[in-house]
Amino acid sequence: MQYYSLNKKAPDASFRDAVNKGLAPDKGLYFPERISPLGDIFFKNIDNLSYNEIAFEAIKQFVKPDILEAVLKTIIAETLSFDFPIIELNKSISVLELFHGPTMAFKDVGARFMARCLGYFNKDNDEEVTVLVATSGDTGGAVANGFLGVKGVNVVILYPSGKVSDIQEKQLTTLGQNITALEVNGTFDDCQDMVKTAFLDAELTNRMQLTSANSINIARWLPQMFYFFFAYKQLHNKHKKIVFSIPSGNFGNICAGMMAQQLGLPIHHFVASNNKNDVVTEYLKTQLYKPKPSVQTISNAMDVGNPSNFVRIKEIYKNNFKTLKDHLSSYSFTDAETKEAMQEIYEDYNYVADPHGAVGYLGAKAYLKEHPDTHCVFLETAHPTKFLDVVEKVLQQKQELLAQIKAVMDKKKVSIKIENYEQLKTYLLK
Ligand SMILES: *Cc1c(COP(=O)(O)O)cnc(C)c1O
Repeated sequence: MQYYSLNKKAPDASFRDAVNKGLAPDKGLYFPERISPLGDIFFKNIDNLSYNEIAFEAIKQFVKPDILEAVLKTIIAETLSFDFPIIELNKSISVLELFHGPTMAFKDVGARFMARCLGYFNKDNDEEVTVLVATSGDTGGAVANGFLGVKGVNVVILYPSGKVSDIQEKQLTTLGQNITALEVNGTFDDCQDMVKTAFLDAELTNRMQLTSANSINIARWLPQMFYFFFAYKQLHNKHKKIVFSIPSGNFGNICAGMMAQQLGLPIHHFVASNNKNDVVTEYLKTQLYKPKPSVQTISNAMDVGNPSNFVRIKEIYKNNFKTLKDHLSSYSFTDAETKEAMQEIYEDYNYVADPHGAVGYLGAKAYLKEHPDTHCVFLETAHPTKFLDVVEKVLQQKQELLAQIKAVMDKKKVSIKIENYEQLKTYLLK
């Protein structure tokens, strides 16, 4: 597969080059040149396919010929070594749990897949690749865990000081080895801007091979398609019109769902569920896309003021506002509403949701009000104990810590504090 830059001012790239670069030289995000639907036989037969087989069929066209089929099968098997269960809360609402991986957020899948691709591409290189990544909370941990010990790859994580949860911070600052955490005095948007600036800084890119492990990187983004297939496999015999409500920040996850739909997966509609960072909700109302500084909320992984994948979503729907609106609705909710939802989900269904999942639940309910004949699946994007303070306070109840979390809580945080881009550059060049 060849990939083009959405800014259309850079040469096309193979899967391998696009993964190694992250962002195209003209700052554009890479997008596949073609999307070939999987065909009726695949969907008719889906009950008989394993998750690994489904994932293989879904992604193979995007990585060929740069990764051999046998290698791809191994990468998929290693990436997907945990569960993706669906729990039906009632006749209209289900939750898809994406937090059974090592860092208990959905980003484990993309991070593990990308780490293995990058490790494979660079296993015989003398020069090391540096993965530079900005995190609003969960990416850092997932990337640190996914890339730990991968030969030939150094990982540098930028996170906003004081704006990630204690557990998230421990997950990204305690591993050591090839992982370094830079603690930025600023917001997530500042971190993301610094990463983007670094990619465009010729002085840096001439001296080192830099890539990104945010969802701008196709190897982080595309494997997220798998969840939607897995959910469909579990639900299609019971429900005809399946709608996904996706708690969204950078819009990588939802955009991967849209790619699954392009592959032919019968998804009736998408709901982008936002906290008060509501650029896309506003865009669908007004047709004006106005990025703004992010505001801090209790669903911090979605505190994004200028979602980087939105350009991909527009491309998928041919830059046509009407087509986009036919496929996508969006709602925005306050922290107070999110807390109420967490209580409601607990009282009505005896289910503990994290703040991100609760925003997804609210989006599902809002959509169902107008479309009661559909079945809405909201994504539980992180385990509730990753947001212990909020969850325990809202539900007035102690939560049991899981083994993955206990393992990092007692380790010592190691980070390097930085204030601005110059300090990042100095660090990278030394
Ligand atoms: C990253 C993240 C999101 C947002 O996902 P995007 O792909 O950036 O839209 C939502 N919830 C949690 C828990 C996350 O970690």
